[in-house]
Amino acid sequence: MADTLSLKGAPLQQLQQSDDFVRRHLGPREDEIQEMLEELKLSSLDDLVDKAVPHKIQINAPLAVEESRSEAETLKYLKSLADKNVIAKSYIGMGYYDTITPTVILRNVLENPGWYTAYTPYQPEIAQGRLEAILNFQQMTMDLTGMELASASLLDEATAAAEAMALAKRSSKNKKSNSFFVDEKVFPQTLDVVQTRAEHYGWDVIVGPVTEATSHDVFGALLQYTDVNGQVTDLEPIISKLHDNKAIACVGADIMSLVMLKAPGEMGADVVFGSAQRFGVPMGFGGPHAAFFATRDAFKRSLPGRIIGVSVDTRGNQAMRMAMQTREQHIRREKATSNICTAQVLLANIAGFYAVYHGKKGLTTIANRIHRYTTIVAKALQNAGLELVNDSWFDTVTFKAKDMDAVQDRAKAALVNLRYDGDKVSFSIDEAKNQTDIEELIEVLTGAKADVLELDSEAKSSIPASLERTSDFLTHPTFNDYYSETDMLRYLKRLENKDFSLAHGMIPLGSCTMKLNATSEMIPVTWPEFANIHPFAPEEQTTGYLDMIKELEADLVEITGYDFVSMQPNSGAQGEYAGLLAIKKYFESIGEEHRNICLIPSSAHGTNPASAQMAGMKVVIVKCDEKGNVDVEDLEAKAVELKDNLAALMVTYPSTHGVFEEEIKHICQIVHDNGGQVYMDGANMNAQVGISKPGEIGSDVSHLNLHKTFAIPHGGGGPGMGPIGVKKHLAPFVSGHAVRKVHSVEARDGAVSAAPYGSGMILPISWAYIKMLGREGLRKSTEVALLNANYLKNKLAPHYPVLYMGRNDKVAHECIIDLRQIKAETGISEVDFAKRLMDYGFHAPTMSFPVAGTFMIEPTESESKYELDRFINAMVSIRQEVEKVRSGEWDAENNPLKNAPHTQSDIRNWDKPYSITEAVYPSPSTIESKFWPTVNRIDDVYGDRNLICSCPSIESYQDQD
Ligand SMILES: *Cc1c(COP(=O)(O)O)cnc(C)c1O
Repeated sequence: MADTLSLKGAPLQQLQQSDDFVRRHLGPREDEIQEMLEELKLSSLDDLVDKAVPHKIQINAPLAVEESRSEAETLKYLKSLADKNVIAKSYIGMGYYDTITPTVILRNVLENPGWYTAYTPYQPEIAQGRLEAILNFQQMTMDLTGMELASASLLDEATAAAEAMALAKRSSKNKKSNSFFVDEKVFPQTLDVVQTRAEHYGWDVIVGPVTEATSHDVFGALLQYTDVNGQVTDLEPIISKLHDNKAIACVGADIMSLVMLKAPGEMGADVVFGSAQRFGVPMGFGGPHAAFFATRDAFKRSLPGRIIGVSVDTRGNQAMRMAMQTREQHIRREKATSNICTAQVLLANIAGFYAVYHGKKGLTTIANRIHRYTTIVAKALQNAGLELVNDSWFDTVTFKAKDMDAVQDRAKAALVNLRYDGDKVSFSIDEAKNQTDIEELIEVLTGAKADVLELDSEAKSSIPASLERTSDFLTHPTFNDYYSETDMLRYLKRLENKDFSLAHGMIPLGSCTMKLNATSEMIPVTWPEFANIHPFAPEEQTTGYLDMIKELEADLVEITGYDFVSMQPNSGAQGEYAGLLAIKKYFESIGEEHRNICLIPSSAHGTNPASAQMAGMKVVIVKCDEKGNVDVEDLEAKAVELKDNLAALMVTYPSTHGVFEEEIKHICQIVHDNGGQVYMDGANMNAQVGISKPGEIGSDVSHLNLHKTFAIPHGGGGPGMGPIGVKKHLAPFVSGHAVRKVHSVEARDGAVSAAPYGSGMILPISWAYIKMLGREGLRKSTEVALLNANYLKNKLAPHYPVLYMGRNDKVAHECIIDLRQIKAETGISEVDFAKRLMDYGFHAPTMSFPVAGTFMIEPTESESKYELDRFINAMVSIRQEVEKVRSGEWDAENNPLKNAPHTQSDIRNWDKPYSITEAVYPSPSTIESKFWPTVNRIDDVYGDRNLICSCPSIESYQDQD
């Protein structure tokens, strides 16, 4: 930038314009960019693109998106959109409730980069904080549902229901049945997602009154507790009969109601799931929220998603990590139990902390207040002579309106949102409502004021004594120890400090694109005008959201070269699923529904085959050549051989090997020539934005990981958003929604997520990212991402073999280094490297994906040259350490690499043949600022053999050293 003095006399306009954000988003300074280019013997960033990216796929015109706007301007404009949203009092319920995020959690977790920029805890030694937080979430789930085992979060309640159905199919002893029963009084969006899922698995969904659940031959049944009208039903007799029929009983439950109601686990349920949204997570127009999922111990190997389990480290101390198959879900591929990858960890943490903050006592007070208010309003309705549909309730009552128009008019005038269903009206009470709200609600519903205190003295609880909760919950000390805000603050901080996040240093995880999550992008997320909007609020209250979403869609259409974007999928894997369904539906529409083969290269991410399998497709693996490219000959042979039934190719671009394949257009052509469609996995879009467009390369559909390329933070393992871009011919087949029409989507194809626009609350992040970078900043980000990766590659190449390179020996936005030779020669493995990097103050790159025994390194454009050099120096230094092992200077087993990571416990009891300095201060930057792993290396095998997924007892914390 020009220095300020020389701007004297410059046009005023120039002073107002700002390229500030572009430079703040990028790591290297202009002079460093030059230095790095020189290192690579390149003249400019354009020269780099010219050398690295096949000319055939480059776009020839700049992106038609606006120029960059300053952070302040962007926020101002976004505020004007937000102001168009109307915050009404929501009584709609249906799985979304107003909630009060405890401010200590709001500020220190939800709005705190220490929590929201962390990655999925693949390196557990530097992730004990969030692992403990998720364990709290699992414990809370187990306690409230009365189940033996709970998993970490799923994406939303409706997809959790679909996962429950899939688990039922896998686990039921009624192998002959292909039918699943669904209580007609589940939430309509749950039914919608379950029907979508069942259709493509080839199963029948029987919908009927809950009393008929046992009169069909089914492998499982879904019951809702409490149902959409609010009724509390004793499910025990139904579940017992389902068991007699060898069917699996799945119960969708409201988490707050379980504080007062008998736990479904005590009624014999096999699976209990629901949304944890109302435990402190704002509605956010539908998400992100964590779903909970609990089962009996017998189904532990069938659980979808991740489970956190307790193991021990090399000192025998307790330590947590992802358990069993969920650790490396990509190796399970088409045998995976589900395609869940990114999944709402941040929101699960918040819900768990909400339970810690309130404890049993606080939750009991909240639940009782909700219930008592509900009972008061019900009494007022009865006094007014209105007929109630349900005779028992927790927080929801449905009644027959006598004068629907009058109710609606009064509700509108008071900005009160209710649920209307034919001649029936429902309301759901939440923790954010007070006595004045209740008085107002009564007036809206009955047209007359009432004395709430009098009603309270007349009204009786409607919950049958047999369905009242008697069992204890949240007895673990974690839920009872943090009573004052000071204690809570310190607990949150203590956990945060155990975790490595982008606030500490770079997280060079290949394929994950851990770039800057700018503060200005994050600020709007918790604005009440975005946070406090129900996904089914009347259209006229959400125009700000829709305007923002439409702008984002338009920009994504331009960036991807597709014709249409569907915002619904709330993770990359859900996008894959939605995209494959669009392909299937398209084939049905042209009479080619027999097409069911999905070609997938051997290097693909594990979600690809898992999604294909869920979409009812048959996976055929295509080989890769020694350069990491799709083996075109093999592809062509298979495409031709299978051409009668070829449905799709799923291909990642640039490839998961980090190269721009020259043949990509040809590959798309081969697939099209043989009747198939091309699904381009867009996780690597960070190497394409502003340079090439999937839609122009020849692909038909892609998902975009907004939580990779478009700056939504990873949240320690979620949230995410996986909207799909599609070509015109697929546009009629994107997901619709049973409750709320999705704008511009005419056809009513089934939903893939609970909310019509996925996780609306985090969309302002990607919107702001695009607005603030603007046309040139977007392209420059891609260029610098390529530059950083190629610079790293060049600097590491003398020390480690670089596995794959494209044209002119360039890589794309990431590179793979091969550690297999070192392992064969010295016994030092990729795991030793990963753990040793912790001693140097780094999070390891992606390990053993897509090639076992390798590191895939993705620096992103946001890392500075200083940080890249720090990483390079660490890797070079570790390489020299390997030589000490090789030469025998260091013992083959008892050395800093094998013993890594080192902890403060180590130095308290130092017993190693090398020095403390060598162990914990191996580089200058570690002397300046040391990040301490809080546990030693964790024993995965021990943890899997002794599976414990609940909070450990306090005694077990004693005698740790
Ligand atoms: C991250 C990733 C996915 C899955 O995305 P999620 O949002 O985690 O579901 C799919 N493919 C590739 C190549 C990825 O890197």
